[in-house]
Amino acid sequence: MRRPWVAGNWKMNGLRETNALLAKGLSLLAAEREIDICVAPPAPYWLQVVDAMEGTGVRVLAQNVSEHAGGAHTGEHSVSMLQDCGLAGALVGHSERRQLHGETDVVVAEKFAAVRKAGLQPVLCVGETLDERRAGETLSVVSRQLLAVLESQGPDAFDGAVLAYEPVWAIGTGLTATPEQAQAVHASLRAVMAAFDADRAGQLRIVYGGSVKAGNAAGLFAMPDIDGALVGGASLDAQEFLGICHAVR
Ligand code: PGA
Repeated sequence: MRRPWVAGNWKMNGLRETNALLAKGLSLLAAEREIDICVAPPAPYWLQVVDAMEGTGVRVLAQNVSEHAGGAHTGEHSVSMLQDCGLAGALVGHSERRQLHGETDVVVAEKFAAVRKAGLQPVLCVGETLDERRAGETLSVVSRQLLAVLESQGPDAFDGAVLAYEPVWAIGTGLTATPEQAQAVHASLRAVMAAFDADRAGQLRIVYGGSVKAGNAAGLFAMPDIDGALVGGASLDAQEFLGICHAVR
């Protein structure tokens, strides 16, 4: 049995006041004992949210992290800073980082390695664009993105990690992949991993992201290879996010 995992990616939203309200709403999640729940606030608010979530079991993630250990990298933050602030892990390779900030598969794999080596949880995001889907390239694109880590770091690099399938065309668009579309990709990703290590493939949590809401979550979670969700827009509303967390149990 894979333990369900749900995370809210707040992206570049929120200020101290709204964060405090949202965190208060999420404190109800303290009752959830059977699922892993995380939130990824913007970096300036890590400490605020770590403090606000204390005692709830909700863990805090970074939305991004540098592949470098430190030094002259203006605007970046290192894994040691994540650890120092009490974070549990980081998203790596979110499509907005790949598309808007030019992150390549190689850089994403380096970030994954940095997070893992620090003993934190890496959340590797993969996904195809609409053009790639229309061209029938979905599986080759997501496999390539997964293999960039698997081939360089081996299957044991995924112990404790999470793989997030986020079709780019479904992010923030209101278009969700159907449960069947998502399941097909999740099963293929698990098969890619199984070619390296069948046991680890069976244990790997593969979560879906892309316009997940309380209303469509149960259908997605009913699929055998969908182990949770990475939620953007709907995670800014405590009631919606609670609804998604309840749907995964
Ligand atoms: P969305 O974003 O739920 O707003 O589509 C998901 C994500 O980018 O992680």
